[in-house]
Amino acid sequence: MIAQRILQARKAAGLTLVELGAKLGVSHTAIQKFERGELTPSSSQLLTLAKACDVRTEYFFRTHTVELENPEFRKKVRFSNADQERVLFQTTNLAELWIRLLGIYPISPIKPFRIPEELPQSIDSYEQIEDAVEKTRNAWQLGMDEIPDICDTLEAHGLIVIMVNVANPSFDGLAATARTDDGTTYPLVAVSKQWPADRQRFTLAHELGHLMLAGRLTEELDEEDACNRFAGAFLAPKPAVLQSLGQKRKGLEWHELYNLKREYGLSMAGWIIRARQCEVISDKAYKSLYAQFAKKGWRTMEPGEPLQPEQPKLFEQLVFRALGEYCITESVAAEFLGIPLMTFFRQRQLDPAANASDQ
Ligand SMILES: [Zn+2]
Repeated sequence: MIAQRILQARKAAGLTLVELGAKLGVSHTAIQKFERGELTPSSSQLLTLAKACDVRTEYFFRTHTVELENPEFRKKVRFSNADQERVLFQTTNLAELWIRLLGIYPISPIKPFRIPEELPQSIDSYEQIEDAVEKTRNAWQLGMDEIPDICDTLEAHGLIVIMVNVANPSFDGLAATARTDDGTTYPLVAVSKQWPADRQRFTLAHELGHLMLAGRLTEELDEEDACNRFAGAFLAPKPAVLQSLGQKRKGLEWHELYNLKREYGLSMAGWIIRARQCEVISDKAYKSLYAQFAKKGWRTMEPGEPLQPEQPKLFEQLVFRALGEYCITESVAAEFLGIPLMTFFRQRQLDPAANASDQ
């Protein structure tokens, strides 16, 4: 088991046998022997291995494994296969930790993810997606308001949200199903923790679109476009767009879009697109607006401070609940949170000094 895990961790870290050997001060053949199970690393070697491959030592000893089925990436073409493998590794690694935590609970503390029954079986136009979003929002009792924290909303409905550490600009996110050894499955969505909130939120809503629309779109519809429409409508549903912008407009003011971005967590560009999709502005007005927007360089970087990234909270919440209720030790809790034990002690006591430490 350890052998295979060393191999996986090394590949995910993008290190060759020689490179990893150099970090450990051993030959490349020694690493090869670790990976074949012909040699067992010492505990200090394992610590160095973990550090070099950017995993926790606990990773090498896990007994439960998780497989990611049908991963669907939201990415640009430049995102290579090796990059994808790395993201999948990180996501699987964190999903395993999640599922290990859930295993501590006698009854699952999260409710199973369900597709609302009201969703239309077949969707043959992009306009119909507005309806699918409305039904989803109603089933989840979200009304037509803005969604303050999409991670929280998704987690409350049984989706595991994973934040991966990927700074590659070609990566947005992915949706997949995590399957455990015993066959239990959990849908999950992963997004980069580095991006501003509007990019994270659109990606998460897009991935939710994949889960909700799967098998319902007729051939004429492009799944990616459909999921983008779902995402825009999920973050800013049509009634909210009409209420915020009015039924018909000749054009839109930049400052309106700027404020709405902050209110709804949907980018200014996203708002221009929504205005067109909800027929608030004409196609001609849309094109001219979008061209001006692009000319200002705002497609690369929108004006004003970027929105602070979102941070899922459920995992940490469940670690503390398990500590309080199900007798996990403080060192296990610290391991789950990936922080040193001393930092954990301080965090547990709400000591302000704990915030200064690195996570
Ligand atoms: Zn997609």
